[in-house]
Amino acid sequence: MERVEELLVSLIAPPNHQCYLCDREWPTAEDGLCDDCRRALKLAISPAPPVGLDGLSVGIQYCDALSSVFYRFKNMERRDYAPFLAQFISIPEEWNAELLLPVPLHWWREYRRTYNQSYLLSEYVSSRFGIPICPDLLVRIRHTPQQKMRSGKQRRNNRRLKGAFRAAPECAGRSIVLIDDVITSGTTLSECARALKKAGALHVYAACVACSTR
Ligand SMILES: [Zn+2]
Repeated sequence: MERVEELLVSLIAPPNHQCYLCDREWPTAEDGLCDDCRRALKLAISPAPPVGLDGLSVGIQYCDALSSVFYRFKNMERRDYAPFLAQFISIPEEWNAELLLPVPLHWWREYRRTYNQSYLLSEYVSSRFGIPICPDLLVRIRHTPQQKMRSGKQRRNNRRLKGAFRAAPECAGRSIVLIDDVITSGTTLSECARALKKAGALHVYAACVACSTR
């Protein structure tokens, strides 16, 4: 009898899961958030696309709670954050996107980290929007320092990113969407777009989870 009651309770009450943002055990909904965090998250107003891009789509505004989520996702092997974060990425239909391209890491960083977080996001975006991923069309040929500790002005002046990417000739004539987790200065996306357009890409867009205001 107890079992039947337990079963009934489990059917009526939503299961408790940890909220992705605040880590509380909470009856979370499909989006992985508790009610408080859902209220606190702000949808982003997409900023103007960085130089060289034909469009930019951003899901949510960066906030303190997200910083630890991104840190764990990128540096602590928390690949399980990918579907949670990818739900905030959207691809406008009018882009007529043909390919998704995760912003590449330098091979050495990817080797150290064992995965590219933008690729993990792309997998979920690809299955939701039915657009294939072609990660091999763009490579990062230069190892550049991580940007998170730099100020916006320094980032904009980050000359080291110039020529850091190389695109394959198969990009020619295609409409491509770069996928990244957070957009800060947009320098990295601009450099990717420059390499892709040099290789003949027709349109280059970017879709990100969050943008951080400066
Ligand atoms: Zn929460």
